[in-house]
Amino acid sequence: MRPQHLILGLVAVLMVVTGVLVYQGNQVTSAATAGGSSATSSSTDVFNGQDDPTTATTFATMAPAASRPASNVPMTKLEPGQQAPQFIIFSFDGAGSHQRWNEFMAVADQTNARFTGFLSGIYLLGDPAKNAKVYTAPGHQPGKASIGYGGPEDEIVTEVNDLNTAYSRGHEIGTHYNGHFCSDAPPGGNQWVTADWNAELGQFFDFVENWKTLNGYSDAPDLQVPVSEIKGGRTPCLEGKWDQLAPAWKKYGLTYDSSIPAPYNGIAWPEKRDGIWEFYMPQVYSPGLEKMTTAMDYNFWAQFNGAQEEPSSAPELRSIVKGTYEFMFDKTYNGNRAPILIANHFNKWNGDSFNPPAMDFMKEKCGMEGVICATYQDVIKWMELQDPQVLADLQAQKPVAGQAP
Ligand SMILES: [Zn+2]
Repeated sequence: MRPQHLILGLVAVLMVVTGVLVYQGNQVTSAATAGGSSATSSSTDVFNGQDDPTTATTFATMAPAASRPASNVPMTKLEPGQQAPQFIIFSFDGAGSHQRWNEFMAVADQTNARFTGFLSGIYLLGDPAKNAKVYTAPGHQPGKASIGYGGPEDEIVTEVNDLNTAYSRGHEIGTHYNGHFCSDAPPGGNQWVTADWNAELGQFFDFVENWKTLNGYSDAPDLQVPVSEIKGGRTPCLEGKWDQLAPAWKKYGLTYDSSIPAPYNGIAWPEKRDGIWEFYMPQVYSPGLEKMTTAMDYNFWAQFNGAQEEPSSAPELRSIVKGTYEFMFDKTYNGNRAPILIANHFNKWNGDSFNPPAMDFMKEKCGMEGVICATYQDVIKWMELQDPQVLADLQAQKPVAGQAP
């Protein structure tokens, strides 16, 4: 451990302790909000599970910032010959667990990291809206969904407070759409056409804007995330066809996506396709798995044991996931400097195999020289600020981490 890491570590411990002392009991309700979500990618092995409910109240609750801080990305052009920052973009699909919001915000606070929560829209629908069947997924009966709704009013309020806190601290909110329909419960993303995506996104924004009315929660706090600040997302199970999705993204003012499996092996710089920034989900080599995998929590799990709950194997899987992150980092940091995507759910799958390695990776790397853990939108702003030729040169570099060393 280098001295600055030791100091960072001590500061981290102090901050966590302070956070507990100051914030425990403030706004801590009884539970994780809103059910977790399900699978990603490989459409045949979809997992539909609820996020683990928790009754623990022993974790810190982050306080909202007085005002949203400026970006943590220096918005400057690269000088000739200057290396690009190593961006790491952490994102969490579903974004409906009070405990995980607070844990990751606490770690991000220690390392000046920002991350992105992709919200499942029906996590804002409480029991009244659920019972009134206000959500209709394209091709499904009113009210049906592959994930749970948001729960009772106190859990919706907790979720709204978490979203407000995250946004106020510089984190980003995007969309994970609504009902999490995939190939296990068709029609889902792979079958939907533009009209279906329009219906799905239109309802997502309706829920974000009108959740208080839809639920009848007139006394609840307002959601302070401006709808105009929701600019991208990830489709459930990484499903969906580009040509069907793109018109819907544009109709709703979205500017980026991070769903489409990369059409090449390895990690490369994002590209702008038809006006939309595509942050491809990369296929990388995993030294621990000794094979290629989509670099996402559920996919690691599917490759590891077929996505079976096997908590006794959690230490091994955590180590494999962390090792894969390290491999990705080594190849990009010392190579093409393409942004690394750490793409997770807030779920505690396989005995909590995925949150600890993501959290450790955030702790270890985000404070490093030349490394910036940023939101999607801030990385886009940085890319668009560069001279076009500089950006084109970055994008022209070969993908890395796409083969065994
Ligand atoms: Zn999902």
